[in-house]
Amino acid sequence: MASDADAAVTRFDLIVVGGGSGGLAGARRAAELGASAAVVESHRLGGTCVNVGCVPKKVMWNAAVHAEYLHDHADYGFEVGHSNFRWETLKSKRDAYVSRLNNIYRNNLDKAEIKTIEGHASFMDDAEPTIEVNGKKYTAPHILIATGGRPTVLSDDQIPGASLGITSDGFFELEKLPKRSVIVGAGYIAVEMAGILSTLGSKTSLIIRQTGVLRNFDSLISANCTKEIENSGIELWKNSQVRSVRKSAGGLEVTLVTKDPEKKSEGEEISIIEEVDCLLWAIGREPNTSGLNVSQMGIEMDARGHIVVDEFQNTSRPGIYALGDVCGKALLTPVAIAAGRKLAHRLFEGKADSKLDYSTIPTVVFAHPPIGTVGLTEEEAITSQGKENVKTYTTSFTPMYHAMTSRKSQCIMKLVCVGPEEKVVGLHMQGLGCDEMLQGFAVAVKMGATKADFDRTIAIHPTSSEEFVTMR
Ligand SMILES: Cc1cc2nc3c(=O)[nH]c(=O)nc-3n(C[C@H](O)[C@H](O)[C@H](O)COP(=O)(O)OP(=O)(O)OC[C@H]3O[C@@H](n4cnc5c(N)ncnc54)[C@H](O)[C@@H]3O)c2cc1C
Repeated sequence: MASDADAAVTRFDLIVVGGGSGGLAGARRAAELGASAAVVESHRLGGTCVNVGCVPKKVMWNAAVHAEYLHDHADYGFEVGHSNFRWETLKSKRDAYVSRLNNIYRNNLDKAEIKTIEGHASFMDDAEPTIEVNGKKYTAPHILIATGGRPTVLSDDQIPGASLGITSDGFFELEKLPKRSVIVGAGYIAVEMAGILSTLGSKTSLIIRQTGVLRNFDSLISANCTKEIENSGIELWKNSQVRSVRKSAGGLEVTLVTKDPEKKSEGEEISIIEEVDCLLWAIGREPNTSGLNVSQMGIEMDARGHIVVDEFQNTSRPGIYALGDVCGKALLTPVAIAAGRKLAHRLFEGKADSKLDYSTIPTVVFAHPPIGTVGLTEEEAITSQGKENVKTYTTSFTPMYHAMTSRKSQCIMKLVCVGPEEKVVGLHMQGLGCDEMLQGFAVAVKMGATKADFDRTIAIHPTSSEEFVTMR
């Protein structure tokens, strides 16, 4: 429990700034290990993942998958009538689910006797690291910054009318399904949001600056996901950028400029998308450090404002740690959670070596169909191991599910192997079921499985995943 050693400053063993994935996990593990802990949260407990990220996103993706299967019902012999989708019904159920989660997080903190402090934390200029929330001061020998990130927004000076658009945060506030959506960005959030909107029935355009989406993924994934997006009916504007946005009677008017860098002789092409009722910027995320006064504390930050930490989550200021999205590395909920727990074991259980291994982190993109990826891309393996030491195995097929359906999607898979023993250092896939397929394979890759280990494993038939153990 907290002790009031000095009337003006409340003391704890650990103060966590940010009640999101990493902060909550770190505080709870610290409390389990006997520490008196406090969590400061300026918005809703659960952070990005629970409120405006993984959780509500997955609900929407699940809805979109329903919409896809509806197309297949007749192919599987079901006579179904016309079905209406009510966004409003789903949104209110989704919001209620998120509120339940907020309450569960609060109850969990209370049960663990962790003090919840509501408000925005700022570091004070005191000699001993101290934070201030709503005029009250708090201090601890260990202060963890887990303040996450926020969507990048453009100003109207950068792109006239940019502020007429929303970000992924605003997506979760939409009260009805937009009729005409324009998504800007080529990363996983843009891909996921465009897929959800389009599949649920919004006419959707995706604006990307280059020729493919997910450019930091393996080239096979990037190329295939780009193709699937085009096949799905999303209008993909390659080599394009938004020049301006303007409000008109029928909605937003989004002016695009398209320039193919390979056709040097040709100039820019200007196009206008009209009657847009949802313009969504998904152009990146920024660390959440505003108003925190971290630089005043002498805490090192990189050029993009991320807090610089060592492999033990130590910042440059002793007794102050940071983890999760605010550090800009592997922006994923399970990464923030694992880092928080590892830190708690180091600080409060004396496990001096407790730190997160950031290698071989599996991740799924809830595209249509979903993508699963773990380990090195082929390009990364070649850079680190040399082309002559890298061997890849790829396959592409139509999943058996689609043998009955007129709607088709491909399944593509790649194994990236290195060295004479063909250690599997990368595994990449897109296709039906790949989201749930990845976790088990990620264990094998993390354990250092070789291609021969994969080959020795008996296939499960008939599944898509069996292809991974039968590749030649
Ligand atoms: C649309 C979207 C979809 C995503 N989908 C997935 C997914 O499918 N799988 C996955 O693994 N990850 C996903 N993510 C990423 C995931 O949400 C983040 O990686 C994760 O939430 C990071 O956790 P964190 O603890 O670092 O920060 P957060 O969860 O963002 O928590 C930070 C908290 O700090 C609070 N805060 C900030 N500053 C202060 C302050 N000064 N004082 C007090 N409180 C403060 C914020 O209000 C926030 O609640 C998604 C993200 C987005 C945006």
